[in-house]
Amino acid sequence: MASSPVHGSVRLTQDQILLRDAVRVLANERVAPRAAEIDKTGEFPQDLRRLLAAQSVFAIPFAERHGGLGADLLTLALAIEQLSRHCATTGLMLAVQALGAIPIQVAGSEEQQERWIPGLASGEKMIAFALTEADAGSDPGGIRTRAVRDGDEYVITGSKRFISHASVADYVVVFAVTNPDADKPSRRLSAILVETNRPGFKVTRLEHKMGLRGSPTAELAFDGVRVPVGNRLGAEGQGFAIAMQTFERSRPGIAAQAVGIAQGALEVAAKYATERRQFGKPIGDLQMVQAMLADMDAGTEAARHLLYTACQEIEAGSPEAARWAAICKLVAGDNAMRVTTDAVQVLGGYGYVEDFPVERMMRDAKITQLYEGTQQIQRLIVARSLLSPR
Ligand SMILES: Cc1cc2nc3c(=O)[nH]c(=O)nc-3n(C[C@H](O)[C@H](O)[C@H](O)COP(=O)(O)OP(=O)(O)OC[C@H]3O[C@@H](n4cnc5c(N)ncnc54)[C@H](O)[C@@H]3O)c2cc1C
Repeated sequence: MASSPVHGSVRLTQDQILLRDAVRVLANERVAPRAAEIDKTGEFPQDLRRLLAAQSVFAIPFAERHGGLGADLLTLALAIEQLSRHCATTGLMLAVQALGAIPIQVAGSEEQQERWIPGLASGEKMIAFALTEADAGSDPGGIRTRAVRDGDEYVITGSKRFISHASVADYVVVFAVTNPDADKPSRRLSAILVETNRPGFKVTRLEHKMGLRGSPTAELAFDGVRVPVGNRLGAEGQGFAIAMQTFERSRPGIAAQAVGIAQGALEVAAKYATERRQFGKPIGDLQMVQAMLADMDAGTEAARHLLYTACQEIEAGSPEAARWAAICKLVAGDNAMRVTTDAVQVLGGYGYVEDFPVERMMRDAKITQLYEGTQQIQRLIVARSLLSPR
């Protein structure tokens, strides 16, 4: 399934196909057998982290001069999709490593990139992206964490909520207020990389979640954490712009996670429909079941097609990058929720219990409608692009 090199206008290159197929084999053979256990224990799978590092999967989005594979956004999406087909937590490992690194790639100096990117590309170091606070989710204008300049250091004080991987990361890119009196709320923030071994940095809580249970989601406290000014990415006051630029390149990763989850659920449901017999025949012979499967397939193929196109448009420097990123996350996230819900329906009562993976996939799908901007926020971005003068 999905092995054709052609996706409408998107024709994958030989390199993209080779990499996708290599990650697919890794996912089938090494990730799939671990997925149910990761969900059950809620433990971050360090073994799979080491596997992705050893197989150079973390290296995909990084420049060759920093030890990466120098691959494009579409190649990264193909890898996240294949991992998420079996395990959304493992797919997110790759997506968050990219999410945390993008601020360094888009705003970091060459010296900063040389300092931090090679460790991320090899998978030896992990990174997190800390924008959200308890009272500032969809509206980052409400961020209260402060970074106050003291000589050649910043002193960071405040807290962050819902930060993926922060409890296992070596670095956290923190968005903090450096310019409280800026003329616009969007000029108040700066992006600062904090090493998590600095005094005053604390993980104060880990969330118990509906899905994505192997991926740690942390609450963080910054109690006067001192970092050199040289850890700031970009200029003071550019933090909001850096965060928005980051989302233009990271949201396709969440769309890829959503396409992978949907594809995984579709494959389980289609197989089940050929095996489960009722009324003396396989349920796959029943037209209402066939219709569900056909809609699941059509929706997932449409989301995939949109995702691949979005990746190419963003990589090509489209002036509508924010719209492409929002539109692919919106469509793929909603499709993943619909398809996983229908997969549970196709399996009947068996879909609702943990003997089959579709109930886990349904719980995992929900997060793709929430993080990196809720679906409502994606709609706002698409509408803004549609209604603003060109
Ligand atoms: C598992 C998990 C992992 C996460 N990982 C990270 C991470 O790594 N880094 C990070 O910084 N954050 C992370 N987040 C935070 C996530 O991005 C936020 O939860 C999300 O942006 C929504 O913010 P909120 O939860 O405060 O909801 P709110 O902003 O309070 O929204 C509540 C509801 O109001 C709606 N709403 C809000 N504003 C508008 C509007 N203007 N128009 C219409 N509707 C609106 C929302 O769509 C939503 O339905 C993570 C969250 C979770 C659950």
